[in-house]
Amino acid sequence: MPRLAPGKLVIATHNAGKLKEIQALLAPYGMECLSAGELGLGEPDETGLTFVENALIKAQAAAEASRLPSLADDSGLCVDALKGLPGVYTADWAEAAIYEGGPRRDWYMAMGKVEGKLAELGPDVSRDCHFACTLAIAWPDGTHAVYEGRAPGALTWPPRGTLGFGYDPVFVPTGYDRTFAELDPAEKHKISHRADAFAKLVAEQFSA
Ligand code: IMP
Repeated sequence: MPRLAPGKLVIATHNAGKLKEIQALLAPYGMECLSAGELGLGEPDETGLTFVENALIKAQAAAEASRLPSLADDSGLCVDALKGLPGVYTADWAEAAIYEGGPRRDWYMAMGKVEGKLAELGPDVSRDCHFACTLAIAWPDGTHAVYEGRAPGALTWPPRGTLGFGYDPVFVPTGYDRTFAELDPAEKHKISHRADAFAKLVAEQFSA
C-alpha cells in the first residue's frame, strides 16, 4: 500500500469548509495541505456511478495536474427503500431552479424530494439510510488508496435543527434521538461517515 510521507498534499476540493476540516485532521501528521483552488486546478466532471469512482476521478485529476499526492472525498446520503438513492446524486437533488446569478442548491427542497419518494412507497416503508464518505488518495505515479466510511441512521420528518449542512436536519444517527443538525458539531464529527473514513485512512497511512 502506498503511504503518504510528511510534506505537501493537495486537497482536491474547491470547498473552503472541507479544506479547513481536512487540514485540521491531517496537520498532526506533518501534512501541509494545499487546495486545488489555490493551485488553480480545474474541477473534473464527476461522471462516476459510485462514490469510489468519483473520489478517484477528483484525486487522480489533481495528482496529474499538480504532480503531488492528492486527496479527494465524495459523499452522500443512501436510502435503503430508494435502492441507495440519492447516493452519488445527493448534491444534484438539491439543484434548484436557475436563480439570478446561476444555479443554487436548495436543501429543503432536496429533503422534501426524498420524503416525497418515500411517501409514494406507503406508510410502512423502511426509513433506514446511511451517509457514506469515500476518501481517495492518488499519487502522481498512478498508485492510489481508497477508504470508505459510513454513518448509519434513519430519516425523520419534518426536518429538525439548525446546525450542520445539507441533509443533516432529517438524519437521526443510530443510537441517538436527535438529528445531525441538532447535535453539537464536535459530537457529529465523532460519529460521522467522514470521521469513520478518516479513522481508516489515519490507521493505514500514519501507523508506525
Ligand atoms: P460532494 O461529496 O461534495 O459531492 O457532496 C455530497 C453531498 O452529500 C453534499 O452536498 C451534502 O448535501 C451531502 N452530505 C455529505 N455529507 C453530509 C453530511 O455530513 N451532512 C449532510 N449532508 C451531507
